[in-house]
Amino acid sequence: MVLLTLRWDNSQSFNQARKQDHKCGYCGLRFIDGEDIHLHHIDGNHNNWKSQNMMAVHQSCHQYIHMSKRDT
Ligand SMILES: [Zn+2]
Ligand SMILES: [Zn+2]
Repeated sequence: MVLLTLRWDNSQSFNQARKQDHKCGYCGLRFIDGEDIHLHHIDGNHNNWKSQNMMAVHQSCHQYIHMSKRDT
């Protein structure tokens, strides 16, 4: 069992990652200790911080999501 060192400033990122069993909601790979975790707003509304609307993803995956979705 690996204990993650909490380096994230945003505790919501950590809570969300924990809910996802420390797996990226996009690629399904586990987050690496110390890695930047981004919270993606599933509905695209950046004022909607409900946990159902949040998805913890890798930084690179987050960029990919927005590149492919081209949301405004
Ligand atoms: Zn990922
Ligand atoms: Zn996003």
